[in-house]
Amino acid sequence: MEVQPKQATSKGSADWFTGDVYIDVIACAEEPSCFNVGAVHFTPGARTAWHSHHGGQTLYVTEGSGLVQSRGRQIVSISAGDVIRTPDGEEHWHGAAPDHFMTHLSMTDGYPTWGAQVTDDEYHNHRH
Ligand code: MN
Repeated sequence: MEVQPKQATSKGSADWFTGDVYIDVIACAEEPSCFNVGAVHFTPGARTAWHSHHGGQTLYVTEGSGLVQSRGRQIVSISAGDVIRTPDGEEHWHGAAPDHFMTHLSMTDGYPTWGAQVTDDEYHNHRH
């Protein structure tokens, strides 16, 4: 075993995120596994684009308050300690609440498929 050197925090791509998002890699897939774990830090109002995961995704919220939504469902509020499981292929997004930071661990066993950004209207829909 080894205590691994700390990798630099990376900025989430504007192709896949709205707002400022920072990612710390924890476990990187090594062949033949596709297992990935990352800590994803969302600033207030920041969120992923619509996407799905081959093999699904488990999120564990470590800090703050956020929002998740699957296509065609209501927006759901999440906070520290919540575990959110999204099944294989289910289109969804996740992000911070409008006025709070949110950090979650993302655990996946396959690659994401990215779609359109979550518009401000979609993001704020829970307030209507
Ligand atoms: Mn996801």
